[in-house]
Amino acid sequence: MKVIVLGAGVVGVTSAYQLAKAGHEVTVIDRQEGPALETSFANAGEVSFGYCSPWAAPGIPLKAMKWLFMNHAPLILRPKMDAAMLSWMAQMLRNCTSERYAINKSRMLRIADYARISLAEVRDETGIAYDERMQGTLQLFRTQQQLDASAKDVKALAADGVPFEVLDPEGCIRVEPALKHVRQKIVGGLLTPKDETGDCFKFTNALALKAAAMGVKFLYGTNIKALDVEGGAIKGVVTDRETLRGDAVVVALGSYSPMLVKQFGIKLPVYPVKGYSLTIPIVDASRAPESTVMDETYKIAITRLGDRIRVGGMAEISGYTNDLGQKRRATLEHSVTDLFPGGDVSKADFWSGLRPMTPDGTPVIGATKVKGLFLNTGHGTLGWTMSCGSAKVISSIVSGKKPEIDATDLAVSRYA
Ligand SMILES: Cc1cc2nc3c(=O)[nH]c(=O)nc-3n(C[C@H](O)[C@H](O)[C@H](O)COP(=O)(O)OP(=O)(O)OC[C@H]3O[C@@H](n4cnc5c(N)ncnc54)[C@H](O)[C@@H]3O)c2cc1C
Repeated sequence: MKVIVLGAGVVGVTSAYQLAKAGHEVTVIDRQEGPALETSFANAGEVSFGYCSPWAAPGIPLKAMKWLFMNHAPLILRPKMDAAMLSWMAQMLRNCTSERYAINKSRMLRIADYARISLAEVRDETGIAYDERMQGTLQLFRTQQQLDASAKDVKALAADGVPFEVLDPEGCIRVEPALKHVRQKIVGGLLTPKDETGDCFKFTNALALKAAAMGVKFLYGTNIKALDVEGGAIKGVVTDRETLRGDAVVVALGSYSPMLVKQFGIKLPVYPVKGYSLTIPIVDASRAPESTVMDETYKIAITRLGDRIRVGGMAEISGYTNDLGQKRRATLEHSVTDLFPGGDVSKADFWSGLRPMTPDGTPVIGATKVKGLFLNTGHGTLGWTMSCGSAKVISSIVSGKKPEIDATDLAVSRYA
């Protein structure tokens, strides 16, 4: 089959690789000049299979109100008269019940667990390197209240069979030795030891090269304008250069996915939630993280990527804008130097990206009502983590095979 993948972020490239492996003739289209130049460029680098949680959770509306007024706020809200934003926020609030949280979390963990196996397979098959480390994610609690609140995550992890350890401050230091310098700031931690870290940009670029060697065609610098649909079935894709013919199209355009499918009556509740990162050269490795540390207070992830520290986080709901505010940089600098002052922040690269978020945290993976049109998008906070799993699922669905995990509740029809 001729399959066109729209988007060369981590989700598009992993999809293309799996589709090529399944024997399809694959073309990838992206407006950028190479892979992973938008949201997949400088994310926090955590590959946190066990840490996968929806942001919509019980108690979040109240917490969110407090966050908005915090110094170094993890949440920034710039409401607009934008129907997509308002409807997305309303749906997000509806997902903040214990019942919805449990369903959403277990869906995310299902994809993430499959992604863990799938990423290992990709590594074995390709031998690609991407500053990967396999030393777990440590969620760090600075208050007793945060530690107590983690009980609901512990329950979900236990129910889903995800290995974890609840740690006291000494346990945290054993995992992340640099924390010994800030012992007094830590109350405890939750370790998910099977988690990994890695540079998403390096991974996506290396995998794109492997995919190209397998015959995948990459059309960069090409703007996707519209889908060509006739009689309810996909015929191809209209770009600013040419119209391409295909038997199947996989939309992996991150935050820009909803616009393309809207005209066919597909309501895709994916909205951009902006985040920021700093990439800092390490000058003192003894004061740098070993793996990923999630600072629960500021909701910021601090990760070791080779000889760099990547610190990323914040959720800014402000529409489709990538501008860089110095106040956000100050928050990242504060969080990283407070715990791991082993990098030279004056030489850091500052970046922002738009997380393609669904209101229930789970990506949208599956068929649509248009024959031959498939979605693999909406990976939100942990798209790098889930990418290899969702790529295998969409490849199976496009190939007309039953996915190896239950995917019946992952398609866009779940919002009907
Ligand atoms: C600050 C921050 C930290 C994060 N940290 C982590 C983390 O630690 N771990 C993790 O797992 N995830 C993390 N994420 C989330 C993760 O980065 C995303 O979920 C993931 O990158 C989404 O990948 P994607 O391929 O769907 O989107 P993208 O990477 O945005 O790819 C979409 C592609 O579509 C292309 N495109 C869009 N519209 C068009 C068009 N009209 N024509 C042609 N091309 C088009 C774009 O050029 C782009 O290349 C983080 C995100 C942010 C912002």
